[in-house]
Amino acid sequence: MIDGHVHIEKSPYTIEYIMEYVKQAQARGIDEINLLEHTHRFTEWKELYDSARNAHPKMKEWLDNKNTISIQDYLKLITEVKAMDLSVKLNFGLEVCYFKDKEDFIKEQLALFPYDFIIGSIHYVYDMAYDLDNISQAILWDVKDVDDIYRTYYKDTEHLICSGLFSQLAHMDTIKKYNLYPSYDLTKTYHHIAEMLKKQDMKTECNVGCYYRYHHHDLGLSDELLEILKEHQVDIIPCSDAHQPSDVGIHFNEVQKRLYDKRP
Ligand SMILES: [Zn+2]
Ligand SMILES: [Zn+2]
Repeated sequence: MIDGHVHIEKSPYTIEYIMEYVKQAQARGIDEINLLEHTHRFTEWKELYDSARNAHPKMKEWLDNKNTISIQDYLKLITEVKAMDLSVKLNFGLEVCYFKDKEDFIKEQLALFPYDFIIGSIHYVYDMAYDLDNISQAILWDVKDVDDIYRTYYKDTEHLICSGLFSQLAHMDTIKKYNLYPSYDLTKTYHHIAEMLKKQDMKTECNVGCYYRYHHHDLGLSDELLEILKEHQVDIIPCSDAHQPSDVGIHFNEVQKRLYDKRP
């Protein structure tokens, strides 16, 4: 069993800290973890966020606070951990924020190191983060039409998939985080995206981050979206979106049931 999306950002890079993830994985019967960092952390990736920084002073402040370390430190950690013989397989990658006009930049940056996997995420709609508590409500949800936000989010998701830059699409429906839903039906959109994922041979996630951190009622993907992805035989990877070792593999028994149980 694999946990496909695990952050290590809450500690300086040390082998001891990585070993805490290994221990928790073993305790929950997980034998493989995709460890990753958000690209917004790295000074080398700062340029990716130019449009978001210019979009609103609150975005600039938030991003500048995050953008503090060199990716060289992360790459050094990866090399050190890869030299170790561990009972849990550790893959290392990045969670990249996708911006359509930055595809060339992303491509150049990704070519600099042989990552095990690359996750593409839509975290910004109209260059505003849609999921930041105390920020997103005022700068995005209160000023833009919810239908337009959803249409843009899924249009950008389609561009992300088409780009061919990523092996995995992050948390496909987390735009629902605040329980704000469009007035139009998403079924057609879901089918279209499922077809595209299958065609591009990309995985997508059943990511429970919103469930246990933000108390959204869906255990990852919504029932409707999950059924459509299954119908199109899209490869769905269970993801804790852990931001600390104790959350690795959280709720995976229930997630496994949703992903693999046959209906009567
Ligand atoms: Zn994300
Ligand atoms: Zn994440």
